[in-house]
Amino acid sequence: MNKAKVIIVGAGINGLATAWALVRRGYQVEVFDKSAIPNPVASSYDEHRIIRRHYGDLQLYADRMPEAFRLWDEMFADIGARHFDPLPQLLLERGDTGWVSASIAHLDTIDIAWREIPLEGIARAYPMIRADGLTRALEFSGGGALFPIRILTDLVVHLAARGVVFRQGTDVTSVDLEAGRLVANGKSHSADHIVIAAGAWVTRLLPELAPILVPSRQAVMFLAPPPALAPLWRAAPLILDLGEHSSCYVLPPRPGTRLKIGDHVFTRQGDPDASRTATDADVERLITAGRLAFADFDSYTVLERKACYYTVTENEHFIIRSMGPRGTVISACSGHGFKLAPVSGEEAASLVSGFG
Ligand SMILES: Cc1cc2nc3c(=O)[nH]c(=O)nc-3n(C[C@H](O)[C@H](O)[C@H](O)COP(=O)(O)OP(=O)(O)OC[C@H]3O[C@@H](n4cnc5c(N)ncnc54)[C@H](O)[C@@H]3O)c2cc1C
Repeated sequence: MNKAKVIIVGAGINGLATAWALVRRGYQVEVFDKSAIPNPVASSYDEHRIIRRHYGDLQLYADRMPEAFRLWDEMFADIGARHFDPLPQLLLERGDTGWVSASIAHLDTIDIAWREIPLEGIARAYPMIRADGLTRALEFSGGGALFPIRILTDLVVHLAARGVVFRQGTDVTSVDLEAGRLVANGKSHSADHIVIAAGAWVTRLLPELAPILVPSRQAVMFLAPPPALAPLWRAAPLILDLGEHSSCYVLPPRPGTRLKIGDHVFTRQGDPDASRTATDADVERLITAGRLAFADFDSYTVLERKACYYTVTENEHFIIRSMGPRGTVISACSGHGFKLAPVSGEEAASLVSGFG
């Protein structure tokens, strides 16, 4: 047993994955969160998150995916539930975006089979998709949906059973990473090491990172398809519809989840404490993309319009680094931080271990 004590600020997936990695190394871990655990407005809290093996030109993600899948398997074995649904993926290209060619090239290097679907076959295979405007369609495997709410909940239960102390409603207002001290709810706490995993709020505690880490307000819509299309959607793949002017991703409804549409266009603005109900302006781009991608999109019932935040960096790289002799920050950015959290948590734990 390594008796060193680590305080983690933030019980999102990155804080919890770091706690998981540290407990496995024998550390005493306490997790502080300003909200409930898990926090319903954390970036990590959602019905599903996409995980894939290929990331087009984002090689830094692709390189880490084999390790991510391996660690998810270990985490699921530990928590006793596999919150992952392998799904086929359908990449639709509208115009010359280069995405299909780049994906084929990458899928070949990682040995994942793919099939280009003749455009005349799209309407038959996927009647909900708008075939007009499509230039290419590619189908492949190797990814699927993670179920974050279930993962966070089971991970908290598992970690608490392993001795991790959780302090909900504990707002950390300042940190001293030289001394290993922080102030939360007006009270001082100390530890051998402090890990900051504060999601979109990170620059409030570490303002020196503000020039490189920007909170970005993003929107998603949860939908119910028209009844005639519901059975088709239940069996649908994960869809990426990428156009020259508009794009979106869609997660099909699975047991316990709703149909969801979102995009990866960063707004690079907003305050994570602002209302989480997406406004008309928040969803305008999504509606445009949905109308281009899906037949009769306006006949879908909107169940929820939700705003969510994550941090972004200029080059979409994650920030996982030491800050002072007793501090580590982990900020997984750009809408890709969930799937890679077990890898990021290992990296953060290695930095902590490096300090003894
Ligand atoms: C719309 C949307 C879609 C996404 N899609 C995907 C996807 O398909 N695949 C994927 O891999 N990733 C996706 N992501 C990104 C992924 O969800 C995030 O990168 C990841 O969840 C970030 O986790 P985190 O632990 O760093 O932050 P969070 O989950 O936000 O957790 C931070 C925690 O810190 C706490 N906290 C903050 N400040 C303090 C403080 N001062 N004191 C105490 N506690 C504090 C908060 O209460 C919160 O619980 C998406 C994100 C969004 C918003």
